Amino acid sequence: MIRGIKGVKDTLPDEMPRWQVIEGAARRFSHLYGFREIRVPVFEMTELFARSIGTSTDIVEKEMYTFQDRDGSSLTLRPEATAGVVRAYIEHNLAASPTAQKFYYLGPMFRHERPQAGRLRQFHQYGVESFGSVSPQADVEVISLLWRFLSSLGLPGLTLELNSLGEAGDRPAYKTALVAFLKPLEDKLCQNCRRRIETNPLRVLDCKVPTCKAATEAAPKLTDYLSPFAREHFEAVRATLDSLRIPYLLNPRLVRGLDYYTLTTFEVTTTHLGAQNAVGAGGRYDGLVEVLGGPTTPAVGFAVGIERISLMLPEGSLPAAVKTVFVAGFGPQGLVAGVKLLDELRFLGVSADSDFRASSLKTLLRQADRLRATYCAIIGDDEVAKGTLILRHMQTKEQQAIPLGKAASSIASLFLKP
Ligand code: ATP
Ligand code: MG
Repeated sequence: MIRGIKGVKDTLPDEMPRWQVIEGAARRFSHLYGFREIRVPVFEMTELFARSIGTSTDIVEKEMYTFQDRDGSSLTLRPEATAGVVRAYIEHNLAASPTAQKFYYLGPMFRHERPQAGRLRQFHQYGVESFGSVSPQADVEVISLLWRFLSSLGLPGLTLELNSLGEAGDRPAYKTALVAFLKPLEDKLCQNCRRRIETNPLRVLDCKVPTCKAATEAAPKLTDYLSPFAREHFEAVRATLDSLRIPYLLNPRLVRGLDYYTLTTFEVTTTHLGAQNAVGAGGRYDGLVEVLGGPTTPAVGFAVGIERISLMLPEGSLPAAVKTVFVAGFGPQGLVAGVKLLDELRFLGVSADSDFRASSLKTLLRQADRLRATYCAIIGDDEVAKGTLILRHMQTKEQQAIPLGKAASSIASLFLKP
């Protein structure tokens, strides 16, 4: 037997209601906030990710699924969707539109990681991208969408963390200070971080190894190196979040994994997912559109992991089961009448099912029970002869006779009752 790939999961029907709740809320909230759906390909030219995410990031260094196309070009399964959305934005000249361009997406992402609970090689994200505005209000719109969306799902133990990375121009002075701080500590850092001091020192602050975290406790803070513009921007974001009563914690270590972030960065964590405690994250990336060959365009967005949300979704957030009718047709005539009733019920918008493998009333009733049907419509040859069917409420066991001729409409009217 050929098994699925490690870290690449099936989502079976029993788990799907959780996904439908999450994806439904994602769509609903996106539309409430004026974001429209965009779908971009699951694979792109490798160069797109290398250039946008940054060559010295974990994703590009060791997590991408890269392969050679038949013509020799290098392609990569998308590890995230921002790069693709930005490429589409540029390629279709969406910057020329007179209205703000705000998009959301849902779909699979691919990263070669060590599979564990909440960490997969194919996982799914819901994300948004808002192009064109440098206003702190655009940051807050994205953050509040994220926060209200997660809160609506009743997820436990959420914290919003916030930081500012400053403008690109603020980075060199900070980097110098950070490298000066890190150099003498080299022995205390993990191998990766030692290398990062040279390649991408900010990433040291993002390291999850506890000894690295401890060693860099007193590292200089990026927020102490902000330009007046960046400082003002950050203050406006915070003041607006306060006025919306969205709670946050300042986390000066929040540098994020991707190189293209500027100004505001944020992450939502939970106390309910163990080691994989990040639910979603995002930030401003004012330089990216230009880096990928488009016009200078400020932008801000986030992405959340659907699997991680699903793991923490409380039962109370799942919808009540839909009412259904199980049609138990048996005997030569009963079977035919049953198929007709199924068709009529479905036409009227009533969810109806049967089990054509079962031939006795006893097994049919058992299946109705297993499928948690609200009603079972019993139609044997005798009922057909009499011109009535028996409608049984599966929970109360109450039964009533209904004329076959108007069975579908009678049952449908029962369903419309509150
Ligand atoms: P982590 O620190 O957990 O590796 P990340 O910083 O790599 O997360 P992002 O690139 O910001 O994650 O992606 C946004 C969200 O996507 C994460 O907060 C998480 O919920 C989800 N996510 C990222 N990688 C995975 C994965 N391998 N499996 C499942 N979900 C993931
Ligand atoms: Mg990661």
